[in-house]
Amino acid sequence: MDTELVCITCPLGCHLKVGRLDDGSLAVSGNRCPRGIRYANEELLAPKRVVSATARIAGQGRAGASGDGLDAIARLPVRTSAAYPKEGVPALLAAIYALEVRLPVRRGQVLVKDHEGSGVDIIATRTLM
Ligand code: SF4
Repeated sequence: MDTELVCITCPLGCHLKVGRLDDGSLAVSGNRCPRGIRYANEELLAPKRVVSATARIAGQGRAGASGDGLDAIARLPVRTSAAYPKEGVPALLAAIYALEVRLPVRRGQVLVKDHEGSGVDIIATRTLM
């Protein structure tokens, strides 16, 4: 039985039909370009996601009003630098929630390099001084 997917690689959003061949490989149709085949293989055989979350800030709340309007922010928004294997996302989130980030932090700053040897970093998505 075919699996149906919408390719999200580009705005055309091709509707893919994906069947499994006897050798375990996938037969993809409905794609308008080869990237749809790559997308279907990754999504069905090794799905990945960019993960966004928040990390604890050391010493919260921040003493003294800075006048920057950010005093109410208790956690730092973070994300992975690239898509991360979906089956590892719960452990990745646990690692993010265990973090305690010291300010100042600049947007794009690497907080955890090469998480668990994945080649994926955890980075800040906001500057907080
Ligand atoms: S198959 Fe190609 S053209 Fe279609 S949505 Fe994916 S990337 Fe875009």
